[in-house]
Amino acid sequence: DPRIEGIASSIRVVPNFPKPGIMFQDITTLLLDPKAFKNTVDLFVERYTGKDITVVAGIEARGFIFGPPIALAIGAKFIPLRKPRKLPGEVISEEYVLEYGTDCLQMHIGAVQPGDRALIVDDLIATGGTLCAAIKLLERAGAEVVECACVIELPELKGRERLNGKPLYVLVESW
Ligand code: IMP
Repeated sequence: DPRIEGIASSIRVVPNFPKPGIMFQDITTLLLDPKAFKNTVDLFVERYTGKDITVVAGIEARGFIFGPPIALAIGAKFIPLRKPRKLPGEVISEEYVLEYGTDCLQMHIGAVQPGDRALIVDDLIATGGTLCAAIKLLERAGAEVVECACVIELPELKGRERLNGKPLYVLVESW
């Protein structure tokens, strides 16, 4: 798709952030380019329209940027998967190992119903630990995870293999 190149070139790579040796993929520069931002959302919307997705789950924090416009366009509800102690209601939790330490994702009980068909959205997949935790949360709540969608994949880290067979769709690979 000719739109991919503009999206890829709008992403800034920041060396040594948040610590030495890390090449940080920065999507804030993509957001500064309205055409690239719109094309990003459009590509996901085109893929997920008509697939009976009932819930889009966005992962804190950058999944909150790309998830809601997709949810609105395809007529699905949006639910935030948040870091600990941010959600005010009763939650379920999944701990996971991150590239830079350990963390935990939480989801409100009752946000998802058995039979919901879920799309999980984040900006980037590295080791896959975060998406793996998100898949577990949604499945524990009775949802069917149809696919995970990210703007960027770091294929060398093989995160895709940690998703328990769930399909992953990405727009840009970064090596
Ligand atoms: P994983 O759990 O190792 O797949 O890491 C993915 C999570 O870490 C996502 O929520 C990303 O937002 C974040 N992350 C890891 N590396 C980067 C990066 O280079 N740029 C932006 N986010 C990153």
